[in-house]
Amino acid sequence: MTRAVSGRLSIVGLGPGAAAMRTPQADAVLAEATDFIGYGPYLDRVAARPDQVKHASDNREELDRARHALRLAAAGRRVAVVSSGDAGVFAMASAVFEAIEHGEPAWRKLEVEVVPGISAMMAVAARVGAPLGADFCAISLSDNLKPWAVVLRRLRAVAEAGFVIALYNPLSTARPWQLGAAFELLREVLAAETPVIFATAASRSEERIDVTTLDAADPARADMRTLVMIGSAATRVIEREGAAPLVYSLRRVSA
Ligand code: SAH
Repeated sequence: MTRAVSGRLSIVGLGPGAAAMRTPQADAVLAEATDFIGYGPYLDRVAARPDQVKHASDNREELDRARHALRLAAAGRRVAVVSSGDAGVFAMASAVFEAIEHGEPAWRKLEVEVVPGISAMMAVAARVGAPLGADFCAISLSDNLKPWAVVLRRLRAVAEAGFVIALYNPLSTARPWQLGAAFELLREVLAAETPVIFATAASRSEERIDVTTLDAADPARADMRTLVMIGSAATRVIEREGAAPLVYSLRRVSA
């Protein structure tokens, strides 16, 4: 039954893929929604009832999608904008706030909430051990929204500063060369044996995780469902007979 309700916009992180990694809060908000908005593959992960409407869209039209969601919420619908992982990490939440800042004044009066999710870097870290146990950062290698020169400058700065680096959006068919260029730069700064983790489709049935070193890291191993994690000088690999290695970063750092 559809009731008249005041509009609300929830920006929901669905987690990395596995249903068990979606929070109970996200499930509750999805159950209350009248409309779902998101990139098609993410919407596929939401089981809609017959009274709930899915509005699929292309992955690149984030601002249009945000405005669509805001218009629906302003018309009284309960809208859930869905993203994979955490909705605030290289995802829809920022696009929604950008649309509010530059959009209709009435949109500032809407009830807006962000529902956090387990981001890919957390799911991946948990699968291999504790690589994010010391200072770390996350960088998107996509140059759709920022110049490639900025990506390189940031990579060099954080590698020199000793951060563990989670690389999101390592490459796509439209951007096949970025990851190789990133490895080339990182090899100038970091030791050849620095641990590198390739984690594809973490928590899903097709999950594949490989631990290698910076000198052996092959960009062709990654695709758009892959998170690449670069260790620091404090990242250790514990080899185990007959089992995957454990990767962790030392908590203690000397001056
Ligand atoms: N909001 C998402 C990130 C979206 S950007 C989050 O918080 O996880 C898309 C990138 O996220 C992909 O290119 C990949 O680098 C990473 N990613 C998303 N889901 C993943 C998964 N299950 N396993 C590995 N990487 C993933």
